[in-house]
Amino acid sequence: MSKNTDELFKNVIAHAKEYGFVFPSSEIYDGLSAVYDYGQNGAELKNNIKAYWWKSMVQLNDNIVGIDSAIFMHPKIWEASGHVGGFSDPMIDNKDSKKRYRADQLLEDKIDRYDKDGKTDKAEQLQLELDNAMKADDLNRLRDLIIEHEIACPVSGTRNWTEVRQFNLMFSTQMGAIADDADKVYLRPETAQGIFVNYLNVQKSGRMKIPFGIAQIGKAFRNEVIARQFIIRMREFEQMEMQFFVRPGTQKEWFEKWKAARLNWHLALGTAAEKYRYHEHTKLAHYADAAYDIEFEFPFGFKEVEGIHSRTDFDLSQHQQFSGKKMQYFDPEVDPETGKPFGNYIPYVIETSIGLDRMFLLTLLNAYEEEDLSTEEKQDSRTVLRLHPCLAPVKAAIFPLTKKDGLPEKAREIMDSLKLDFNIQYEEKDAIGKRYRRQDAIGTPFCITVDHQTLEDNTVTIRHRDTMAQERVAADQLNKIIGDLVSW
Ligand code: ATP
Repeated sequence: MSKNTDELFKNVIAHAKEYGFVFPSSEIYDGLSAVYDYGQNGAELKNNIKAYWWKSMVQLNDNIVGIDSAIFMHPKIWEASGHVGGFSDPMIDNKDSKKRYRADQLLEDKIDRYDKDGKTDKAEQLQLELDNAMKADDLNRLRDLIIEHEIACPVSGTRNWTEVRQFNLMFSTQMGAIADDADKVYLRPETAQGIFVNYLNVQKSGRMKIPFGIAQIGKAFRNEVIARQFIIRMREFEQMEMQFFVRPGTQKEWFEKWKAARLNWHLALGTAAEKYRYHEHTKLAHYADAAYDIEFEFPFGFKEVEGIHSRTDFDLSQHQQFSGKKMQYFDPEVDPETGKPFGNYIPYVIETSIGLDRMFLLTLLNAYEEEDLSTEEKQDSRTVLRLHPCLAPVKAAIFPLTKKDGLPEKAREIMDSLKLDFNIQYEEKDAIGKRYRRQDAIGTPFCITVDHQTLEDNTVTIRHRDTMAQERVAADQLNKIIGDLVSW
């Protein structure tokens, strides 16, 4: 991260806190590592991102429906899904600092270092060895590589390392009042399994025909070994996932469709296309037959925001085996080749899985601008969030020019006429210029000022966030003006 981008990132984090977007969780107790709270504006922005996703997945596709499954699930689900056995990271401790690291991450950091120092050959060689060791689950080899490449603990500076162990990322707790008898249950590490185990419930109750999708937004929990980069890697986060059930043999075609559709969803918010790229997984999980990530260029480099995976019939077959319940779908459509119905089969699944918190962060980063407004006469600047209006936490702010002459009452009357449709804020404190700056800082697209003329002719001044241009409009036009810009 160069000094400028480093500084920009720090400024965005500070801004997120100062303006009620993101707070460190439990801050008065010195925080809880990798856990964050969303403040008054953060909660609105997050809800708007969710609504944008839900509308484009569920509302616009008549073959996709949404569900809300429980966080707690039967513990066998996580055996069937492979999470109990395999959802782990290789972990290593430094004996002096007692700090814990992900062994693969230490090696990735070393590769970055080699790259930065122009030692491209060394970087490539180490990457290859790391990939091989990870593929073979060879924990001893990971440790050997750490020793061979003289990687020191960033805290103690020593190379006194423990063995490498697998560390399962699932949080567990107990269900029921008596600990002895209680079953161990997990906090779900992904929302997808709630969709898989319900797919026949939804299919039957909704009379869904293949191809169809089930979408879900919800919390997921992972006991990440190291948490860093703000809300990029959290221990409690939110996912927006959609599982699309297709006839075996058609998965490639659907995979390509969803891969394109999901990138378009991102670009429709106006983000520059060069900020995004696809990353193809070359090391596929044993059950996957294709996997791509959509990556965004964060200040610290390109990072995954969303995954699109072709998961074959792995998950449903596993659940059929572990639960002993049939997971088959009867497809009545006639196969043109055989002239008979396609009949019973376990559908294949294409999954799109996006991290809401990463989407939130990239939205803030994209929108954040420290704008220089200086003229020859005076120095001036503002911090503005150029959020897409449909995502802005507050759609319009209403200011009475002064606190007297009936202007506050008139302003509140206008606010009342708008607040059923939009999130509106009322502000009467400080000079108008200051109030504009506060709204710019949270990305409010419109500021509406009520003055003495309003009392005479029911017109107001409306000021646009991006251009700062002002115009006089009839108060009864406001609903339409705001609606036109902030609607989807
Ligand atoms: P990474 O490689 O970055 O750990 P992943 O491949 O484990 O991510 P998936 O299991 O595919 O991620 O989860 C889907 C999405 O959930 C990711 O694209 C990401 O946006 C989000 N996500 C995953 N882990 C976290 C986390 N710890 N904190 C915040 N978001 C996360």
